[in-house]
Amino acid sequence: MIQRIKSESDISWDVETDVAVVGGGACGMIAALAAEERGAEVLLLEKEKKVGGNTSLSQGMIPAAGTRFQKAAGIDDSPELMAEDIFKKNNYESDREITLHLCRESKNLVEWLVDSVGIHLDIVTDFIYPGHSKHRIHAPSTRKGEQIVKELRNVISNRKNILLVTQAPVRDLVATEDNGGVIGLEVEIFGQGINRVRAPKVILACNGFGNNKEMLRKYIPEMAEAFYFGHEGNTGEGILWGMELGAATQHMGAYQAHGSVAYPHATLLTWVVVVNGAFQVNKRGKRFSNEYTGYSEHAIEVLNQEDKVAIEVFDDRIYHSVLGFEDFNQCVEIGAVRKAETIEELAAKFQLPPDELKKTLESFNLAAEGKAQDPMGRKNFQGPLKPPYYGVQVTGALFHTQGGLKVNERAQVVRPDGNTIPNLYAGGGVAVGVSGSGVKGYSSANGLLAATVLGKIAGEEAAKSLKP
Ligand SMILES: Cc1cc2nc3c(=O)[nH]c(=O)nc-3n(C[C@H](O)[C@H](O)[C@H](O)COP(=O)(O)OP(=O)(O)OC[C@H]3O[C@@H](n4cnc5c(N)ncnc54)[C@H](O)[C@@H]3O)c2cc1C
Repeated sequence: MIQRIKSESDISWDVETDVAVVGGGACGMIAALAAEERGAEVLLLEKEKKVGGNTSLSQGMIPAAGTRFQKAAGIDDSPELMAEDIFKKNNYESDREITLHLCRESKNLVEWLVDSVGIHLDIVTDFIYPGHSKHRIHAPSTRKGEQIVKELRNVISNRKNILLVTQAPVRDLVATEDNGGVIGLEVEIFGQGINRVRAPKVILACNGFGNNKEMLRKYIPEMAEAFYFGHEGNTGEGILWGMELGAATQHMGAYQAHGSVAYPHATLLTWVVVVNGAFQVNKRGKRFSNEYTGYSEHAIEVLNQEDKVAIEVFDDRIYHSVLGFEDFNQCVEIGAVRKAETIEELAAKFQLPPDELKKTLESFNLAAEGKAQDPMGRKNFQGPLKPPYYGVQVTGALFHTQGGLKVNERAQVVRPDGNTIPNLYAGGGVAVGVSGSGVKGYSSANGLLAATVLGKIAGEEAAKSLKP
């Protein structure tokens, strides 16, 4: 229960800061840096031993339109086009103004991260995720979010006005009785117990409820028992606090899943394998969907198959095209990727009916050569698959939730009537994303878009509003 007090004299504080940030993922670290840059003293609190959250598990792919990196690579893009791609994927369900605002701010975010903060990002031009009409993903060279986290962490450790405390789960917010405005929080610091922090501005950057079974059963029952591939710290309290204070929520059933997690190895097999031409079969050796529609909704298709698994089939060309991806390399290292000289041998390795798998391959290849319609309606191919072949057993997994608190363009948490909850900001997985209402609306990299752009806005706005 949020502590409600009549006046500040009713409570004694242990610590004081200008801006308290709850959660040390991309959203929280970026918010802390943006607030500090505008002169605020920041306390950044992370529940776990290490910062990073889902951001460190991600591929670090940040979408942005109109950046100087795109221009240098000859890519003509615009925020409006980027927003239109997002709307097409979410069936125009996400808030129009907020979506456009995030897309417009994405350029500033990426250029600020590189030029001012010193994070290393490149424009990715060697593949394009389904749904993006332009090359607009900016990512570290390793294609790992961990690299962004490490670099942000290093920068933060050199900023004297940011105090980062790990092993410090925030347990509750403190708000006033009259208008529900937030004036601080309670944090349990390892070895110290509960500390009351006076903070005139609080930013919730503690992601969604991927690791909260009760909330999943309530809002996303179809994924409540699925394998959760996200960070354990994301247990939904930021959203619950906002709700208790009367915040509006939206699209609580929205989430990102992934239809290609190596199983039982529990390692992500990058979706680029599919983008570059792979297909998936079930245990009967049959394809069961158009793999190209999107990795998020494809998770449901995989989970609907026998034993909730599929075999992803590809060839030597695809294998070498993805070898640079660390996730894929890891799958190779741990033995999840199995090679066979013939399709019959591949069938034997995964105990699939060889005749059926051969028929599936022949039908896929005909479509890939443009000689027949694909029975699953797939239109994007990179040519027929040729021996030797490779296979990986995969399952569908929940990555993160996309529904949450409604925020305005300044990242302030709002009530159903549009008024703000004083002093409270949110970004990343705490705030409703731009993925519409379910699993199908997730466009690749929507997660980091909301985390990074809203994080920067929340930090800047919180710091700006401190000034008289
Ligand atoms: C495997 C995987 C791959 C992904 N790949 C991509 C990608 O390439 N591009 C993309 O756009 N998105 C991707 N996503 C989604 C993306 O990672 C998230 O949307 C994004 O990282 C969210 O950032 P965040 O800062 O909101 O949350 P996080 O990075 O999860 O950080 C939240 C932090 O808050 C902490 N916390 C929680 N509760 C408390 C509390 N009470 N007190 C203190 N701290 C607390 C958590 O421990 C955590 O460290 C991926 C997700 C996964 C799981």
